[in-house]
Amino acid sequence: MKTNYDVAIIGGGIIGCAIAYELCKLGINDIVVFEKSYISSGSTGRCGAGVRQQWGLKLNALLAKKSVEIFENLSDELGMDIEFRQGGYLVLAHNEKQVEQFEKNIALQNSLGIPSRFVDHREAKEICPPINTESFIAATYCPTDGHANPFLTNFAYANAAERLGAEIRKYTEVIDIIVENGAVKGVMLKNGEKIYAPVVVNAAGPWSKEVAKMAGVDIPTYPERHQILVTEPLERMFDTMVISFQIGIYLQQVPHGSFVMGIGEKEEPSHNYRSSWQFLEFITGELLNILPVMSQVRIVRQWAGSYNRTPDAAPILGEHPKVKGFFQAVGFSGHGFMIGPMTARTIAQLIAGEEPEIDISPLSVERFERGELVVEPSVVG
Ligand SMILES: Cc1cc2nc3c(=O)[nH]c(=O)nc-3n(C[C@H](O)[C@H](O)[C@H](O)COP(=O)(O)OP(=O)(O)OC[C@H]3O[C@@H](n4cnc5c(N)ncnc54)[C@H](O)[C@@H]3O)c2cc1C
Repeated sequence: MKTNYDVAIIGGGIIGCAIAYELCKLGINDIVVFEKSYISSGSTGRCGAGVRQQWGLKLNALLAKKSVEIFENLSDELGMDIEFRQGGYLVLAHNEKQVEQFEKNIALQNSLGIPSRFVDHREAKEICPPINTESFIAATYCPTDGHANPFLTNFAYANAAERLGAEIRKYTEVIDIIVENGAVKGVMLKNGEKIYAPVVVNAAGPWSKEVAKMAGVDIPTYPERHQILVTEPLERMFDTMVISFQIGIYLQQVPHGSFVMGIGEKEEPSHNYRSSWQFLEFITGELLNILPVMSQVRIVRQWAGSYNRTPDAAPILGEHPKVKGFFQAVGFSGHGFMIGPMTARTIAQLIAGEEPEIDISPLSVERFERGELVVEPSVVG
């Protein structure tokens, strides 16, 4: 087995595999991805895979917009249909304070070329015919938002990276990171193997804190359970994703006809992946107010995944200031899928020593010590 690489990536979710692919494209293909389970076994394969550009912070909006540009051609680029559909996102406002925030958001998004706008009840009903217009006072809509199939996207990145020379080692757990004189030297695997690489990337999703600890550093991330469900397939009702930050709910009808939906709940930090009946009770109560038509629909399955949280709900990106060569691409909360493509490209550019297309330095881990949090006003709780 080969023991020396230019880059070792820990985590075979969308972030790890997309970074591997983007590195290969930059000519750095002596790389290995370690995944302790199967590809997409973490948050990626459990997520809603919604892709929205309607953000309140410039950096998030930019990462999302650039990611959409990548998503639009990704099936062709990676040689696999990732089922990316741009049916838009309808974002509901329930009070005047939210409307004021959305006015600011729309101004920012439009200044970046994101075609979002306010829609009235009539237009909201045209976009989403079964919606109960009494459940919100205003809404914004961006027609180029959408969703993709998270498994296919993850597999497509992994396969493309492999074709370009990256090695992906599944069912291979990293249990330690070798650090000497403040610089990363490689990783230790569960089977005792040592793998040497001057660059190690933490793309371990919900396990990012444990992985950072292996390199002797503490990062303020934690896992938080989020549940989600899928209904029986139905005739197509609408193409848009519907979302409410206040209620924390999001729902969409996927190409197959099923509805996929989730809702934010207050949870203690944990790696709990168990499903609960309380989730079903909570989400159906809120759902029926927004979409009364769903009362007769059967739920087929529910499951749980994990958000990798940070104190400001923004990711931690870039080289760790205390460990040379140890890069973080973690803490994506509920939006790592949608900003994954551009984030991965930017991290790859940083590793390659290139000027990144987007300045992600505000998302460095040092912001927490400096008290410069990047608080995003428009996230699902
Ligand atoms: C219910 C739910 C709904 C969501 N909905 C959306 C959405 O609509 N849109 C959106 O953009 N985002 C959404 N998200 C968030 C999104 O899923 C994540 O932000 C994103 O998938 C993060 O990708 P990742 O590659 O960082 O993490 P993961 O996909 O979790 O990948 C990390 C991988 O690292 C591996 N790993 C960890 N430790 C080790 C180790 N020591 N050795 C080897 N391998 C290791 C894990 O097995 C895992 O496969 C949702 C999340 C959940 C839970």
